[in-house]
Order: sequence, then structure tokens, then C-alpha cells
Amino acid sequence: MDRHAARVRVAAVHGDRPRRCAAQAAPLGLIFAPCYPRIVLPQSGIEERGVALTEPIQFFLPGPSYVSSDVRQAMTKPMAGHRSAAFKELYVSLAARLPKVFRTAGDVMIATGSSTLIMESAVVSCVERHVLNVTNGAFSERWHAISKSVGKAADTVAVPWGHAVDPELVRAALRRKRYEAVTLVHNETSTGAMSPLAEIARVIREESEALILVDSVSSLGGARIETDDWGLDVVLAGTQKALALPPGLTLFALSRRAAERAAKVPHRGFYTDLLRYRDKHREGGFITTPAIPLIYALDLQLDRVLAEGMEARWARHQRLYRQTAEWAAARGCDYASAPDARSMTVSCLKAPAGVDPQTLVRELGRRGFTIGGGYGDWKPTTFRIGHMGEVRESDLAALLVEIEQVLERAAAAAVR
Ligand code: PLP
Repeated sequence: MDRHAARVRVAAVHGDRPRRCAAQAAPLGLIFAPCYPRIVLPQSGIEERGVALTEPIQFFLPGPSYVSSDVRQAMTKPMAGHRSAAFKELYVSLAARLPKVFRTAGDVMIATGSSTLIMESAVVSCVERHVLNVTNGAFSERWHAISKSVGKAADTVAVPWGHAVDPELVRAALRRKRYEAVTLVHNETSTGAMSPLAEIARVIREESEALILVDSVSSLGGARIETDDWGLDVVLAGTQKALALPPGLTLFALSRRAAERAAKVPHRGFYTDLLRYRDKHREGGFITTPAIPLIYALDLQLDRVLAEGMEARWARHQRLYRQTAEWAAARGCDYASAPDARSMTVSCLKAPAGVDPQTLVRELGRRGFTIGGGYGDWKPTTFRIGHMGEVRESDLAALLVEIEQVLERAAAAAVR
């Protein structure tokens, strides 16, 4: 067994009762740690990594998503000096695994901070003056707000909420004016609309030299993203969505082309300078003190993600989307996003007539299930199911039964 595999091991034996959990643990030579429900720690100090989950998932927010108990437990490990040799070893091990998730041979960095930090950093670092923000929902609009707030000359291609971005609209904008970069949101979490990223990137490459800055916050790990093959320059993702980690870290890939351009951009700030991240990364570390517990969590969860494999993970998310879509069609529940824009990780549905989506969310909460309400202007009319991260078909099936029951009760009450 290699050093990395043996270093930290957590065996999670899930059960609904501590006694059952302890009984499962004993034959494996493990002791049950009652201070932390459903986790067993090994007598030997050797733990299993990336164990299969058996805990039912009832948490379906479109972020943050469910985090497994072994990953939560990993965050309780003792602190280490972030400039120590041991931590450098951990960093190097993360740096070797992360490019597999992003499908790149280039650098993938880890920032302590939420995704908005790296959205802003990408604009500050890669754009001197002219940026095109393609908008089709709340988060792509946020990128426009950021671009203006840091003093860039920012134009938009505005697509209605709930629709996928049409690559030809982007082509037309690029023919009208020269831009240093284009910002895109792959998966609009606000509306459950996923855009055809590969085609949009191809059009941008055909028409211009503009850098392609991609927010894949709620898609990376849940839908195919090929950073190198599609020619993407910055790809950033929050950890709290399809990667099933707690919030607080942002992972991002930076192409060589983007780094070369950034080197010519003055005033990139300190915490917002992507080249500073890249330089420290190449030395094997972080630009500042990282959120160490979150790094431990990432270390463990990355193994789970890679053990499943990216293709298998994307396929599971596609099945979860189909399962939701089939249920919605049978139930007569309409999608709020356009048919050609359906997201693999979040389904945004219109509440049936007479049903207040916020009441639906509340009623499900009473039953122990969490889903998302609508976002922004869509709050009064829609609800969102986050089928991302570690969610399995059986978890989703249980949720859909609960939603069905709540909707039936609402319909019966309306008739009375
Ligand atoms: N982009 C998208 C697509 C998101 O869904 C979110 C948050 O939900 C963000 C950006 C902002 O992320 P954060 O709140 O982590 O800064």
C-alpha cells in the first residue's frame, strides 16, 4: 500500500442506531466512536478511504450539498503548519489529483474563499479593459456586476433567464467588438439552465483571441467539462456543489495562455492575483493560510470522486436528471428552464397551480427533507431540487415520493 493510501483512513459504518453501528464495526476490527454518530475509528490507526456511502441522503439543496460523515469527520483532525513538510506533501498530492477532475494537463489551484472571490480574481487578473459578460441568470449577472465594479468596460450578451446561451449570439457580439475575455456560467444554479459550453468555447476560439473564463461552480464533478480539449482558460468551481464538500474553497484551472496574458495586466491586487496562486502552487503551497480543515476534507473526498471516476460520475448525474424529468412529466410538473437547457445537477420546477413553493419547501422540511426554493425573481413560482454530489437514485426516489405526498395533500385540501 502506498504512503498516501495508508496515511489517513476513515472507515464509516453507517447505521441508524449506535448499537447496530458498533455491531457492524466489531467484526471488522474497528471500534465505534460514540462521540461522533455513525463513524468508527480503527483500533489499528489504519482507516479505509473513500468508503461507499450507506447513509441515506435527504439534503437536496442546489448547494451546499450533502457532505458524507467521513468527510465531516476528516475536518476534526489536528492542525498542521501550512508551511510544514507534511502539509507540502499533502498539497503536492492534491495538486496531482485535481487536474484529473478538471481534465487538464495544466495547473489547478486551491483558493480559500467562496467562488465569488475567484470570479472577481479572474476578471481583475485577466482583463485590462474590455470584457464581454454573457448573462442568462443571477450568477452570470453577478459576473457583469463584478466586472463593472472593478472598473472594466463590460458589455453583455443578455439571454433570458432559464434559457441556454446560444453560441451564435456570442459569435455576433465578438464580430461587433474586440474583447480580451468572455465570462460564462456553465450551469446557472438560479434557474437550472445548463449551456452548451463546448460549442460556445469553439465559437469564441473561432472568432477571437478572447480568454474564456468559465464559472463551473455547480457543474464541475456533475457534468462533463473538458478544460484542455475545449480550450477553456479559467475554470472555477466551488467545492460545495457537485463535489460534495463543505463551502469555503474554490478550485480553479488556469491555462498557460491566461497566465501569459495576466502577466501583462497591471494592478492584479494581492488576494485576487491568479499568478500569485500559480507561483505558490508551483512551489507546493498556498498564497496565505488556507482553511486547513477544508483541505483535509478535500483530500478525502477527492479520493471518493476519483474512485468513482469522472465518466461514471457524470453518467450518474445524468441519470438523476432523467429520473427527475420523468417524475416531473408524469406528475404534470413543468420545468422552469427551457427543454434544451436542462441541467444535470439542479432541476428548477414550476410549482403546480395553487401550491406555494415555499410551503412545499417547509412541508418537506418537516418530513426531514431539504430542497431549495426559487431564486430571485423566480422565488414565488419555482422550487429547485439539487441532485448533485453524492446523491444516488434511491435517495432521489425517496424525495420524489415525499414531494408527491405533499402535493397530493395540497390538492386534496384545495378541493375541500
Ligand atoms: N456561481 C454559481 C453558478 C453559483 O451557483 C454560485 C453560488 O451558488 C456562485 C457562483 C457564487 O458562489 P459563492 O457563494 O460560493 O461565492
